[in-house]
Amino acid sequence: MSKTFKDIMDEARSEIKELSAAEVQNLLERDGKHIVLDVREREEYREGHLDGAVSLPRGFLEIKVESTIPDKTAPVIAYCAGGTRSLLAAKVMKEMGYQNVISMSGGYSAWKTAGYKWVQDRQFTQEQATRYSRHFLLPEVGEEGQAKLLDAKVLLVGAGGLGSPAAYYLGAAGVGTLGIVDNDVVDLSNLQRQILHTNDRIGKPKTESAKQTIQALNPDVRVVPYQEKLTSQNIMHIIKDYDIIVDGCDNFPTRYLVNDACFLAKKPNVHGSIFQFEGQATVFYPGKGPCYRCLYPEPPPPDMAPSCQEAGVLGVLPGLIGVIQALETIKLIIGKGDPLVGKLLCFNTLGMDINTLTLKRDPACPLCGEKPTIHNLIDYEEFCNLRTAHAA
Ligand SMILES: [Zn+2]
Repeated sequence: MSKTFKDIMDEARSEIKELSAAEVQNLLERDGKHIVLDVREREEYREGHLDGAVSLPRGFLEIKVESTIPDKTAPVIAYCAGGTRSLLAAKVMKEMGYQNVISMSGGYSAWKTAGYKWVQDRQFTQEQATRYSRHFLLPEVGEEGQAKLLDAKVLLVGAGGLGSPAAYYLGAAGVGTLGIVDNDVVDLSNLQRQILHTNDRIGKPKTESAKQTIQALNPDVRVVPYQEKLTSQNIMHIIKDYDIIVDGCDNFPTRYLVNDACFLAKKPNVHGSIFQFEGQATVFYPGKGPCYRCLYPEPPPPDMAPSCQEAGVLGVLPGLIGVIQALETIKLIIGKGDPLVGKLLCFNTLGMDINTLTLKRDPACPLCGEKPTIHNLIDYEEFCNLRTAHAA
C-alpha cells in the first residue's frame, strides 16, 4: 500500500522528538553540546541562520552527513524553515544510526519570530560567488574562510622574485589588502622570474607595476604601494596596519630588520629565501616558534652573501618558494592546516629533494631568547658589515 505525505509525516513524528523554538533556545543555553544542523538550501542559510549552525542542505544529507557529523551518538538539533524538512531529515539520520536527533518544530521562521539570536554570514556578490566558487567547495575554506581572506591584510616585502608569485596568488585568492614595499624599478633582467612585471613596464616602479597586474587579475584586492626602502625608521609604522608579513627580500640587512620588527610587533613573518638552485621557506611566529636570529645569530660576511644579481638564480625557483609563502599565508589567515612554524622547508630543485628540518627556539637568542639584549631596531647595514665593506 502506498503512503500519503500525511502518513509519512505521522510516521516521522512518532519516531522523532520535536522541540519548539523556545525549548531549543533553553536547551542550547543550558549546554553547548548540541550540534545545530541547518538542512535548508544554501541561499536560505546565507540570508540568516542560528549562531553556530552547520549548513547541510537536505538534498545532500545522506551523502554528506557522515563526514559532517562522524559521531553518531552526538546530540543534534536539526531545523529547516518550517519544521517539515528537518523532521524528515532527522528520520533519515535515525535510520542511518544517529541516536540523538531532535527536530525543531516551526523551524527558522518560528525561531526568528520569537526574537531569538540569529546571524548572517558575509554577503558575496554574484561575481564573488563565481570567482571563489572553488574555495567555497572546500570545507576547510568555504564562505567563512573566504570572508577571512577578503578581510585579511598582508604586507609583502619586495615585489621581486619571491614577492611576485606570492602577491599574484594571494591576489587571486582574494586577500583583500596587499601592501607592497619596494623602492626598485622594473629592469629587463627581472622578467626571467618576476612575473608581476612586463616588458612594457621597464623603468617603472615595481610597486606600480605590481598594483596594475594584481588589480587586473582581481578587482576585489586593494593594493597599497610603498615606493620606498624599508628601514628601521619606517618599518614599524608600515607593518602596524598588517596581519601577516611576507618576507621576499633579497638581502641580509632587510631580512634581519623584518625579523626584528615582526618579533617586536608580534606579527607572523612568512619567510622565503633562494640561492641558485636551492630555496627555503618557514614561518617565524613570535611566541610560537623560533625567529631568524635563532637560526642565524650572525649575518654572513658580505662577500659570502652574493645576491641573485651576483650569483644567478634559476627563474622558476623563486616561483616555487614564493608560492609556498602564499600558501602558508593563506593557511595562517583561514586557520587551517599546520603552518611551517618551527619547520624549515628546504627545496633543492636539481635533485628534487625536499626536506623539512625541525627548528627550535634558541634560549640564548638575543631577540626572542630568555635574556634578550635587543629591545629596539638597530642599524642593520652596520650589523651586516655593509658600511665598512662599502667603504673599503
Ligand atoms: Zn630568536
